[in-house]
Amino acid sequence: MSSNQIISERDLSVLWHPCTQMKDHEWLPMIPIKRGEGVWLEDFDGKRYIDAVSSWWVNLFGHANPRINAALKSQVDCLEHVMLAGFSHEPAIQLAEQLVEITPAGLDRCFYVDNGSSAVEAALKMSYHSWRNQGHKGKHHFVTLSNSYHGETLGALAVGDVSLYKETYEPLLMEVFTAPSPDCYERESGESWEDYSTRQFAEMEQLLATHGDEISAVIVEPLVQCAGGMRMYHPVYLTLLRKACDRYQIHLIADEIAVGFGRTGSMFACEQASITPDFLCLSKGLTAGYLPLSVVMTSEQTYRNFYDDYENLTAFLHSHSYTGNPLGCAVALASLNIFRDDNIIENNRNLAQVMSEATAHLVDHPHVAEVRQHGMILAIEMVKEKKNRVPYDWQERRGLRVYQHALKQGALLRPLGNVTYFMPPYVITPDQIKTLARIATEGIDLATRN
Ligand code: PMP
Repeated sequence: MSSNQIISERDLSVLWHPCTQMKDHEWLPMIPIKRGEGVWLEDFDGKRYIDAVSSWWVNLFGHANPRINAALKSQVDCLEHVMLAGFSHEPAIQLAEQLVEITPAGLDRCFYVDNGSSAVEAALKMSYHSWRNQGHKGKHHFVTLSNSYHGETLGALAVGDVSLYKETYEPLLMEVFTAPSPDCYERESGESWEDYSTRQFAEMEQLLATHGDEISAVIVEPLVQCAGGMRMYHPVYLTLLRKACDRYQIHLIADEIAVGFGRTGSMFACEQASITPDFLCLSKGLTAGYLPLSVVMTSEQTYRNFYDDYENLTAFLHSHSYTGNPLGCAVALASLNIFRDDNIIENNRNLAQVMSEATAHLVDHPHVAEVRQHGMILAIEMVKEKKNRVPYDWQERRGLRVYQHALKQGALLRPLGNVTYFMPPYVITPDQIKTLARIATEGIDLATRN
């Protein structure tokens, strides 16, 4: 037995993995990882894989990044954790100062949480509670977009719309209003992204106009619906939504858990629409892929809506044990230093251009409906029939065939259904991007052969 097999057997006798039908592992080997370095992950048999999906979109500057490792080591010798109620620490304060500095103007308060779903839960509660504290007691509904994803805990699942994850739990979930997504994959041929996203806004406007008094907030994933298949839309939708939310007195929650920290080409996706949301949720890249940490950012005004004498019971009594963990804050600070020192957003433009050029030929592939891109996220959607965009049956699991080919060739390209995508760490080189494009092309050829 190989070392991989020995480790996998031990794993399969005690572990239950996330987002996995465990029976698949009767025929699909898992890959136990021994070490990581830069874009590379290395398994126990010594085989190396380019981490093209940044380990579920978290890693920004490579695995075992020396600068981030150093920050973590130094913090752990000083303070590993302290609760954040009644106590504070330097990394939490410094990180909050810097986040206030770099996020869109008007987000002046940071509420730490400890993972993406929890940040969404906190933002939903904060929105409702803020209205309540202002005397608006009927605002207890949320609006989401079709095909959206905001996490797996019950509140986050309720405001998401990917049926694969949601349908089973439907009886447990609060009801939400769902407006059609501005996802430009669905546009008419010849229609621009901007026109389609604008057109899709009409129903949202109608919904907000009709139910504004009951609606607490609209929650969106700015520019890219990642878990929903890397579906993308034009920033104009966010601009229109911001204006409408103001008109009808409704909060806007921007879930930038996946797209924040440079993924869409700007530091935050909201910048491309020149908007400030009422709540901004950040996680994943916040710690450059090192540790679970998240934050909900909001305005000074929202903070003031909770600020009162204790006896008035207006406080936001929400907490998690690892809220604002110092190790997470320290690596987040190291990551922000790298953004600043190495001019990352600027340099990523070149990498995004290389991604675009390296995959341009796939536009003509007989089973590729679309190659789409927002900055450092590039997605390739396979279809059974190109002209009418007829999808493959999901049971055929074509994307998984690309994944299996890529593993053999030394790349981690975990698909989303029939969508293969690149969302790599920013330390990837142009040559490595070209290698990924070659592997993806071969994989798509194989996966669509019969
Ligand atoms: N929101 C978005 C947009 C996400 O992509 C994710 C994770 N994929 C989450 C929320 C949930 O984050 P977590 O997995 O840390 O709970």
